[in-house]
Amino acid sequence: MMGGTVISLRGATKQFGGLVAVDNVSFEVREHEVMGLIGPNGSGKSTTLNLISGALPATDGDIALKGQEITGLPARDIARKGVARTFQLVRLLPSMNVIENVMAGAVFGHRRRWGASAERHAKQVLETVGLADKAKAHTSQLTYIDTKRVELARALAGEPEVLLLDEWLAGLNPTELTEGIDLIHRLRDEGRTIILVEHVMDAIRSLCDACVVMSSGKKIAEGTTDEVLSDPEVIRAYLGD
Ligand code: ADP
Ligand code: MG
Repeated sequence: MMGGTVISLRGATKQFGGLVAVDNVSFEVREHEVMGLIGPNGSGKSTTLNLISGALPATDGDIALKGQEITGLPARDIARKGVARTFQLVRLLPSMNVIENVMAGAVFGHRRRWGASAERHAKQVLETVGLADKAKAHTSQLTYIDTKRVELARALAGEPEVLLLDEWLAGLNPTELTEGIDLIHRLRDEGRTIILVEHVMDAIRSLCDACVVMSSGKKIAEGTTDEVLSDPEVIRAYLGD
């Protein structure tokens, strides 16, 4: 069941000029938990992931990984400590084939050196995401969901402590969506710790143990997924007032 705290934010804040994109946000994610980070467009979800991964420096507040402060560290160092992510817009290395992209994730996460061991590991991860038969394909030949699988595999290859998924299901057709949700279920069953930024309600309901809800940069609710999705303030934030 749930273990110790993997990620904790205390008063995390990010300002862009006069805009407070993330406003004094605090929450914790526990080991083996799938936490939904939800809220309307522009509410600060991606920026929050950027603060955790170190892609952006926080203006204020503290972020810790397993009790160790990571606030202000370069993104590379945070990745090596075990924070992996996918991006809202898929970013693959276009000069490399599928398995090389995944190997790059293992090397970037500092778990493997480039070579046979990284390749063996990458093959295993490609099995997990259902891409074993496309290991040697060029990334430009892939369908959209397969590019997303590669990106996920690359993140997993670094054997992260926590996986940050930024609308990983967005843009999938209904068949792909079912496959995509199944895949995240598999990761959940493996006991991975995940922060899931997502709009697809079926996915949130079936995958998330707990949710944090953001609106205009602020945390407006948190609790079990059922609690949060029936909270009138959350419903109001989604419908707009
Ligand atoms: P969400 O992911 O919840 O849709 P974002 O975190 O992307 O929201 O954005 C939150 C707010 O911060 C939005 O108003 C967005 O325009 C703004 N924002 C995000 N990134 C930047 C940036 N790099 N520079 C300036 N404003 C930004
Ligand atoms: Mg976003």
